[in-house]
Amino acid sequence: MAGPRDPEVMKIIYQRVLNKMVCRKCGALNPPGAKKCRRCKSKNLRPKRVLAGMKKG
Ligand SMILES: [Zn+2]
Repeated sequence: MAGPRDPEVMKIIYQRVLNKMVCRKCGALNPPGAKKCRRCKSKNLRPKRVLAGMKKG
């Protein structure tokens, strides 16, 4: 049974959650692959990654 607690499913969910672009200007979350911020139209986006936070826990 592939439920929400399935490790593979969790991995996909995790990647989807993290796979976003964050605007450096206003901090808005944008869909992956976005070229401009949907809120302020800034092109100053960075990928959201939590590799630095993986050690926690
Ligand atoms: Zn923005």
